[in-house]
Amino acid sequence: MAGDRPVGSLASPDMGSIEDKVALVTGAGSGIGEAIARRLDAEGALVAALDIDSTGAELTAGLVRRGMAVCADVSDAAQLEDAVAAVVDRYGRLDILVNNAGIRGGQEAEDAFDRLAARVDEAATGEPTTVLDATLGITDEAWHRMLSVHLDGTFYGTRAALRVMREQRDGVIVNISSTCGLTGCEHLPHYSAAKGGIQALTKAVARDVAPLGIRVNAVAPGYVETPLGDVIRPVLRRVIEQQIGLGRFGLPAEIAATVAFLAGPDGAYFTGQIISPNGGLVTS
Ligand code: NAD
Repeated sequence: MAGDRPVGSLASPDMGSIEDKVALVTGAGSGIGEAIARRLDAEGALVAALDIDSTGAELTAGLVRRGMAVCADVSDAAQLEDAVAAVVDRYGRLDILVNNAGIRGGQEAEDAFDRLAARVDEAATGEPTTVLDATLGITDEAWHRMLSVHLDGTFYGTRAALRVMREQRDGVIVNISSTCGLTGCEHLPHYSAAKGGIQALTKAVARDVAPLGIRVNAVAPGYVETPLGDVIRPVLRRVIEQQIGLGRFGLPAEIAATVAFLAGPDGAYFTGQIISPNGGLVTS
């Protein structure tokens, strides 16, 4: 009988909020990063917007309350250490890090998308002739840049933030991965490898720092309406939309909502998890 239970045994603990928490968002000058910065700001956090593009960082910082712009390249460990130090200098602490900065695949990925689109057209005419060679088309330079921005950048940001969070014995890290990291995307092997690496890194670090009360999770979006997705040709886009249960690309704000959930009190029992807002994308 419910009345026999000790009072409060099933009640939620006092979860607090992210009001006045200090957040650093990388790649905040555009797309998903900008939406994350705005959402965290709307929930009361103080937001530092980091981007390699200083104009983008400043624009986003100007959109949020008491915002701070940081111009830095996440693939450079020293720049991320300096960025975290600047945030702590300005706000006194760092509670939330969102490792979001990312790049598209470069010319080799654009070429691969073109070939995929051509294959769709050819299939429609019943004469498939195109050979997909995205892997063979990736140069050493493109491979290293992709790994460097996504995977190195996530690690460097995580390490720099943990130095501060360890002292606080509190903090949340959210890494932006992709469904490509869950299943592999045939046209983006380097991107898939980087995003899969982020998922493994997330799980490993989450185990490492859980005893300190620090949580680490990843968000793996499907296709999202951002400049990064503009590389997808219309013919291919129509095919992709048919593979998405909800029939449309996601919105940056919908990804930001997932990040805010993980970063905030409602996500308090999540760590080492990969959450995939993808509209029901067929991913097998
Ligand atoms: P976007 O191009 O709109 O924004 C990426 C931002 O990262 C840009 O402002 C860019 O200047 C910044 N950036 C790039 N390299 C950087 C560096 N070295 N240092 C600091 N900043 C850098 O792209 P987006 O679609 O908003 O992507 C954001 C994240 O979401 C990426 O990690 C991307 O891989 C991931 N993602 C995107 C989609 C999608 O469909 N758009 C899907 C899954 C995952």
